[in-house]
Amino acid sequence: MDQISKPNSPSLENFWMPFTANRQFKAAPRLLASAEGMYYTDIDGNKVLDGTAGLWCVNVGHGRERIAQAVERQLRTLDFAPTFQMGHPIAFEFAEKLAAIAPGGPAAKLDRVFFTGSGSESVDTALKIAIAYQRAIGQGTRSRIIGREKGYHGVGFGGISVGGLVNNRRVFPQIPADHMRHTLNIERNAFSKGLPQHGIELAEDLERLVALHGAETIAAVIVEPMSGSAGVIMPPKGYLERLRAIADKHGILLIFDEVITGFGRLGTPFATDYFGVVPDLVTTAKGITNGAIPMGAVFASRKVYDGLMTGPENQIELFHGYTYSGHPVACAAGIATLEIYQEDGLLTRGAELAETWQDALHSLKGLPNVIDIRNLGIVGAIELAPRDGAPGARAYDIFVDCFQKGLLIRVTGDVIALSPPLIIEKDEIGKIVSILGDALKRAL
Ligand code: PLP
Repeated sequence: MDQISKPNSPSLENFWMPFTANRQFKAAPRLLASAEGMYYTDIDGNKVLDGTAGLWCVNVGHGRERIAQAVERQLRTLDFAPTFQMGHPIAFEFAEKLAAIAPGGPAAKLDRVFFTGSGSESVDTALKIAIAYQRAIGQGTRSRIIGREKGYHGVGFGGISVGGLVNNRRVFPQIPADHMRHTLNIERNAFSKGLPQHGIELAEDLERLVALHGAETIAAVIVEPMSGSAGVIMPPKGYLERLRAIADKHGILLIFDEVITGFGRLGTPFATDYFGVVPDLVTTAKGITNGAIPMGAVFASRKVYDGLMTGPENQIELFHGYTYSGHPVACAAGIATLEIYQEDGLLTRGAELAETWQDALHSLKGLPNVIDIRNLGIVGAIELAPRDGAPGARAYDIFVDCFQKGLLIRVTGDVIALSPPLIIEKDEIGKIVSILGDALKRAL
């Protein structure tokens, strides 16, 4: 099929779809036409329960009138204005409001906010800030960044270099980086509820890489406090604390990539709050505007910001920024989203629901091919045994089956990931598990 099967509908040929098997998709497309609350509606009028908050971003649910109105108002007031050597009040207002809920709370002082247009831009921004900071404090030999296997940090050259997903890396050149081992260990930790018991020693990989490269070559270490895109991987108990301690010992900045965990996903405003481990930089995007308008933000500590605010005052301190950094319409969407988070208690609602969510997910234990179930906050993963000679095929078939039965899930390899909007009710959690459970029973 190269045409959507509706009168006057567009051809599917021209949109080169991201992270998609274009030819496979266009032969059997799944097209969403509208959305409200917890549900999408496809072009044939079928309702689809959103088990993934879009792509981990629609935390306050779809179709929020307040965001729509804020965007419309802003478009009519100031559609665009530059933030290079110029400013507009709403960007400062949003930064101030974000600073008030910044990761780690007021004591952490991660309240200097650099706006970007996406998660990938937030990651590349944080890496560049880390390298520039080290240079500004007289540590100019520190340009290497340490990431982790199976990490996902977006698709910029910086992000793929520190990321650890081979398909995203193999074709492209990279910046100087090295990788710690990932923390997924099904043999030791299968069916863990919350954080796995085993694996704190993996943080010592940072020590090993310091011994290999020399601390004086390493600017920063970046990890997702909980990895999402690579198949939902939790940090073992005590792991992030250990990483913080080793980074401190060697003058290495710690960056948490909170593009997924930011804005309530774990039942706290940020994963930084959940773990009580304070990094130097935090990258965010997605939930910052509920996905309504593209935007990201990097939260930097005052130490990092102040370290760069040196030199003559008429000199640009950081040669970096985007046309859309602090875009007024994105800021309007972000402020409206933040008001909803705060008024509806959604930054912490995940904590109230976490146990129901955990019980529901773990009820799928014992179904065919399920080799692990993992959960934290309002995130879940069901890992399947791969079909012989066809890795990923079983999970993909289940994804298609669920969609046909009215549930959107996300699959990466043979991992099914779930991250519904934070407005989810208990009966909807039940519905997710019921549709998924039936699909698991049907799958070959
Ligand atoms: N970092 C993490 C942890 C992510 O999960 C993602 C996207 O899923 C990104 C970065 C990239 O964000 P974007 O797709 O907005 O560039």
